[in-house]
Amino acid sequence: MKKCIACGMPMRQASDFAQGNPDLDYCKYCTRPDGRMCSFEENQHRLVNLMVKTQGLDRAVAVAQVDASMRQLPAWQAHYQEENR
Ligand SMILES: [Zn+2]
Repeated sequence: MKKCIACGMPMRQASDFAQGNPDLDYCKYCTRPDGRMCSFEENQHRLVNLMVKTQGLDRAVAVAQVDASMRQLPAWQAHYQEENR
């Protein structure tokens, strides 16, 4: 089973993938209207809002948790490497 490289969501069926295409490495939620993968900021913003909404967390707590999980995801390795320079 593939996991989205941008948010870690398991993608079980074609409809979970960006554009319904199982050859892509990211999910439908991490996709822009034009079909490309969301940027770091777009995805971070979306995940933080989702966590605040679904888990009732403080925004600061949600930001820290999203940051910790995005650090583990393949899509953002370059982003974090640049940050550490
Ligand atoms: Zn995703």
